[in-house]
Amino acid sequence: MRNGPLARRDMLKGSLAAGGLLGLQACASAPAARLASAAGSRLSKPRLVPMRITPDQLIDVKCCIRPLRAAGPNLATEMVGDTLVVHNYGHGGSGWSLSWGSAEIAVGKALSVLPSEIAVIGCGIVGLTAAVVAQRAGLKVTIYARDMLPRTRSFRASGSFTPDARVALLEPAGPNFPALWEQMTRLSWKTFRTYLGVTGNPVEFSDSYQVSDKPIERRTYPRDPAITDSYATKGLPLQSAEFAHLSSRIRDIVPQAVPLSPEENPFPTPYATRTSQMHFNFASYGHLLMSEFFERGGAFVMRDFHTPAEVATLKEKVVIHSSGYAARDLWKDRTIIPVRGQTGWLVPQPEANYGVRYNNVSLLSKSDGVVVMNNNPDLGDMLGVGNSMELPVRADIEAGLQIMAPLFAPQPPARPA
Ligand SMILES: Cc1cc2nc3c(=O)[nH]c(=O)nc-3n(C[C@H](O)[C@H](O)[C@H](O)COP(=O)(O)OP(=O)(O)OC[C@H]3O[C@@H](n4cnc5c(N)ncnc54)[C@H](O)[C@@H]3O)c2cc1C
Repeated sequence: MRNGPLARRDMLKGSLAAGGLLGLQACASAPAARLASAAGSRLSKPRLVPMRITPDQLIDVKCCIRPLRAAGPNLATEMVGDTLVVHNYGHGGSGWSLSWGSAEIAVGKALSVLPSEIAVIGCGIVGLTAAVVAQRAGLKVTIYARDMLPRTRSFRASGSFTPDARVALLEPAGPNFPALWEQMTRLSWKTFRTYLGVTGNPVEFSDSYQVSDKPIERRTYPRDPAITDSYATKGLPLQSAEFAHLSSRIRDIVPQAVPLSPEENPFPTPYATRTSQMHFNFASYGHLLMSEFFERGGAFVMRDFHTPAEVATLKEKVVIHSSGYAARDLWKDRTIIPVRGQTGWLVPQPEANYGVRYNNVSLLSKSDGVVVMNNNPDLGDMLGVGNSMELPVRADIEAGLQIMAPLFAPQPPARPA
């Protein structure tokens, strides 16, 4: 095996050919590069293609609201006139992730009265998935909605498997919620796995790095005793400790982050972890779901509802209600809290198929673009809480790109060991 300066020159040449920038391995800081030249390290350090993250690569900035419902997603039923309404809304930052499990529960409730046809209100990821699950159970389904999936808030998300992201507040959700959440999450995970390897990669895994200049510690959410108010007194959460953090319940199925040694860290930072993250490629996954819906005979009616009473005028007497954040007005559910978030989208870079997080900014390479999120300042779960402003702010994304720039900047060549 060749090693030392010759091997580094080879890597540099390879990365210049692939991306026009210095390769991350060649970019490693001097001590890291010295370690990289040690025998065997070429096998353990992945050869990542650097991402192109200059502002000219930014092709879109999208902004949207997470429909956080204090008690967690509403899956209750109610009668409106002679119509059975099964609610399926309020999934916070977890709507894509929980969609299949939530749909199974909602459709199960709809089936309890043995309908042959049902209506679904809403064609975001939650409504569309419920419609497909109902069809797979043999029902005739009509979706009534203002917009189809590509024009919904769902399409302005980032699209990773994040089932407990701002999904509920611990106290209002109560003691039974964690088990319900786990049931939805496991059902969803199982279904997403059936899409792995499908043409067009609707669902896939990629390596996800967290890199840092400081040692990386597992995040905890201690209650700040100085904050005495809470959702109970103010109608809004006031600290991250109020949110339900449930991911430890599914540690047996979801890959966990492992620390990387300097020899394994492809980035020029002293600390790094790596995990495998499932994500959804909106264009191909959305297309697949819409195609299945229409191929199974589904009908779509563009329609705007203003009151629950209007829902009861539909010919279908069983309705799954999935209007997302709009349920706050349509169903007057004031327990839904807006949580603003925005994403930047860089030109797709399939050759750089990984994700990386550094100083609260993240990049995730998907087939429909590299998603950029800037979560600075670090407010944890409180970022965007109570903010329903849906206009994108490009400057925030550009600031995030600047924070990430050192990860991809050319480094001085390492001296021979
Ligand atoms: C920045 C950001 C990143 C996110 N990242 C992730 C992630 O990585 N993973 C994840 O799982 N989740 C993520 N989410 C959360 C996810 O996007 C939401 O939970 C999800 O979009 C909710 O979907 P929905 O179908 O309930 O609502 P929507 O997408 O809002 O769909 C609602 C549907 O109802 C229709 N509708 C609404 N009102 C009416 C009406 N009055 N009459 C008729 N039709 C109506 C709409 O037209 C639409 O079809 C993110 C959210 C944000 C903001």
